[in-house]
Amino acid sequence: MENFAERLPLSRHGLDRACAQRADTEFLPTLLTDPATRVLWLHGGNAPVRQGRLQFASFDSVQYDDAAQEGAEPRVLVYLGKSKEAHVVLAIARRDEDVERLGEFISGGSSVTQGEKLQWLGLRDVAATLSAEDAGTFVEAIAIANWHSVHQFCPRCGAKTVVSQSGWVRECPEDKSQHFPRTDPAVIVAITDDQDRILLGANAAWGGKRFSVLAGFVEPGESLEAAVVREIQEEAGVLVTDVTYMGSQPWPFPASLMLGFTAKATTSTVQADGEEILSVKWFSREELAEAVEKGEMNIPASVSIARALIDHWYGGPVPEPRVLEN
Ligand SMILES: [Zn+2]
Repeated sequence: MENFAERLPLSRHGLDRACAQRADTEFLPTLLTDPATRVLWLHGGNAPVRQGRLQFASFDSVQYDDAAQEGAEPRVLVYLGKSKEAHVVLAIARRDEDVERLGEFISGGSSVTQGEKLQWLGLRDVAATLSAEDAGTFVEAIAIANWHSVHQFCPRCGAKTVVSQSGWVRECPEDKSQHFPRTDPAVIVAITDDQDRILLGANAAWGGKRFSVLAGFVEPGESLEAAVVREIQEEAGVLVTDVTYMGSQPWPFPASLMLGFTAKATTSTVQADGEEILSVKWFSREELAEAVEKGEMNIPASVSIARALIDHWYGGPVPEPRVLEN
């Protein structure tokens, strides 16, 4: 029996988050004076990558960048955790023009090293090729950066909050409330029928040609199992049973945790909701492989848990589309 978790590139182990140390107010400032500390810079959701590895800047890059932008808003710094070699701190670049300068602080600089230039790349582009530690670090960095970017104000009174606990809490100076990073749980389900066909839907947001397993956010006060039953009925008009948990993968675009399930259909008539889902169809393995190979439809990229669920049902990776010559 294959291990489903091995199909999930964004679920691999990253850093030791050292949560017990984060509350110490001196912890992060001290790390930023330690030459052993590594700084992961993000800009527009991209991180510096060279030769298939994340590239870290030296501890003094933060001070240098602050000095270059006197009077700017205080930047968000987050303690990400401890790697095998060093403590890792996240810093977010404020402006496009800073990125080139920051290259000077990154190992090897922005010059061409062994034929490969430093590139700023997105998580989805590189996750599958990064090491487990790098992938986990990148996922954590993107997820916490996304949270900070849209939680700058107190939801109770509207005051500007301040960052505390090494970047893992925001506190309101007015009413003293604390606000913790949130993650939005979403269920994603591979449904099969009595002929072991899989149910895939074409989401309106993807232009109608891309088919995937169905998914939806868990609502307040709802169990995961109830969310599976409700979403599938809403989107495809199908009733399901035998809801079985398979595994989870963070999907920080911007803040989801995808919880993967399988379920069995007790009805086979399908009815797309016509709004979110344009069409839903049952596919045998042969039908799916043929349609993908001929380019009649696309399925999700291999970095997604959707693809992991489809490949798991298929019994291995679904063959790539045939490349037509000329
Ligand atoms: Zn407040």
